[in-house]
Amino acid sequence: MRAWKQIINGKPVAAKSGKTITVEDPSTREVLGTVPQSGRADVDAAVAAAAAAFPAWSATTPAERALALLKLADALESAKRKFVKAESENAGKPISAVGIEVDAVVDNLRFFAGAGRNMEGKAVAEYLPGRTSMIRRDPVGVVASIAPWNYPLLMAGWKIGPALVTGNTVVLKPSARTPITALMLGTLAQEFLPAGVLNVITGTGEEAGAYLAQHPGVAMVSVTGDTATGKRIAAAGASTVKRLHLELGGKAPVLVFDDADVDLVASTMRAASFWNAGQDCTAACRIIAGPKIYERLVDALIKQVKTIKVGLTSDKATEMGPLISAAQRTRVDGFVQRASKKAEVVLGGKSVAGKGHFYRPTIIAGPAQNSEIVQDEVFGPVVSVQRAKSADQILEWANDCQFGLASSLWTSDIARAFKVSKALQFGTVWVNDHFTLASEMPHGGFKQSGYGKDQSMYALEDYTVAKHIMVRSE
Ligand code: NAD
Repeated sequence: MRAWKQIINGKPVAAKSGKTITVEDPSTREVLGTVPQSGRADVDAAVAAAAAAFPAWSATTPAERALALLKLADALESAKRKFVKAESENAGKPISAVGIEVDAVVDNLRFFAGAGRNMEGKAVAEYLPGRTSMIRRDPVGVVASIAPWNYPLLMAGWKIGPALVTGNTVVLKPSARTPITALMLGTLAQEFLPAGVLNVITGTGEEAGAYLAQHPGVAMVSVTGDTATGKRIAAAGASTVKRLHLELGGKAPVLVFDDADVDLVASTMRAASFWNAGQDCTAACRIIAGPKIYERLVDALIKQVKTIKVGLTSDKATEMGPLISAAQRTRVDGFVQRASKKAEVVLGGKSVAGKGHFYRPTIIAGPAQNSEIVQDEVFGPVVSVQRAKSADQILEWANDCQFGLASSLWTSDIARAFKVSKALQFGTVWVNDHFTLASEMPHGGFKQSGYGKDQSMYALEDYTVAKHIMVRSE
């Protein structure tokens, strides 16, 4: 059993209190090791280290910072097998599925290395006679990056790339349940970054997270997590007016119009709804079908989803692993049991016996639009399918939701695809697809899914402040 250390000011250190958190494999319930339970003193030390490193790091050239990210990307690529194993064990991901996530982080770091050298802005000009104006984009300062448990490495990568390349220094806090790959990434990065530029602490949300989110030395908090957590962090940062980057919950609708390709929808949902056991903020979990296609679609979905192989994450044939914890499985099952009173569970609806927190892929047909299974984030392998009366009602139901992160629409009518994409209040709209991401394109939401963008040039705007310099020029 390994005793991991947190990384503060370039060094591996235990928590000042000596306390630790035990980390488990959700597939086998085996103990993987311990990490420090970071407390206030550790947060103070990490923020102080990041603040001390900021002047020199922010004064480096974009080329120097880009080179550090490129070296980190190369090192991560070389260590891919170790990261795949660690992420699979700690986050309950099938071993055959994690490679894509490591590749995505490598690509993302490389994208941000290039993007940070290509910042654009308004032309320098005399917008007032005799005054020359120019725009700078300056780093914000110390960024607190708070990450969730569902994609521990991917979220750490999405956060540190744009923050570091723009000259900020970072205190990264992964979820206490899944801290291992963030610690591994942080350890790897120390080789290429000056001490204090990237610190990784490993406490709980209630203790270390809450203290970090209101710390006067932190200029910006970037959090990916539950909407309730985002609201708490926004409130905590209000007293010092922190900049916020909030990537919160989702409830992605899948709009299936009567002219859609049923088999394509069903085969895409097999992955898009159940990848990572549905513990995904963009998971295709809320299917709304036209009246003519509904029956055929439910049949096709059942046929596809019942072939998903659920099992131990170490088995190469496994397609879907466990939920992250016993509490999460109880929560998911609660949603399903309550929904089953008014709608039909046409597939799954049960836990899988054994040590891990496994739950069967589940399809619930015919829930009401105002039911909790349609409105609330379940974060498990559970999909609802509703029959709308008309094309207008499909769109109306899709937008009738507190979240606005991602959506997809399925049709063979190009004009309808454009019209509905425009009307959907979601940060991503896929047309005849769901789930695919590109480093060049933004990810972020409308409504209570938060604000700010991950990935793309838009993220660089979030991690910098536009400064106007006006010079008397005559
Ligand atoms: P969570 O909100 O429980 O925790 C997220 C992080 O916040 C963790 O590091 C946690 O320790 C920390 N935290 C918790 N309470 C805090 C507080 N009061 N102050 C400061 N930090 C605190 O989320 P989770 O259960 O780890 O992840 C699942 C959630 O994340 C889902 O709601 C999912 O939709 C969301 N998510 C969103 C995106 C996106 O891009 N929008 C991506 C992945 C996950």
